[in-house]
Amino acid sequence: MELARHWRLRRQRYTLEGERCPHCGAAIFPPRDVCPTCHQEAREPMTFSGRGRVVAFTTVLQPPDAFTEQAPYVIALVELEEGPRVTAQLTDLGDTQPYVGMPVEMVTRRLRTVSARRGIVLYGYKFRPLLRVDVREAAQAAAHQAAA
Ligand SMILES: [Zn+2]
Repeated sequence: MELARHWRLRRQRYTLEGERCPHCGAAIFPPRDVCPTCHQEAREPMTFSGRGRVVAFTTVLQPPDAFTEQAPYVIALVELEEGPRVTAQLTDLGDTQPYVGMPVEMVTRRLRTVSARRGIVLYGYKFRPLLRVDVREAAQAAAHQAAA
């Protein structure tokens, strides 16, 4: 029952919901109900910001069958602001070359078609180059220009 599994994972995939350990405060993603740091029960839901940085990446030229229509594509190890690392596809790169340290943010995108005949398409998270301007940096830049 593949659909049931996708349904169970929907919060994790669509909203980057993980867990916060009530014992040591560790941020946990993906959720696993046991803290990997202190090994105690951790079931407090925590929604991650979706922002992070690329730690490593590679271009996939020979994908598994379900992903052939998207190849070539970039898979990256992303360290989330809150600490955990996740592996996901980079998207919306345009002419931008990925690099280690690149700021990225989560977006929901089509992952693959589960059944074209039944019209079942699987969505989940990918990461794109960070678009949002840091408000404080923008204000400082504007103040700096005004003073010049
Ligand atoms: Zn813990």
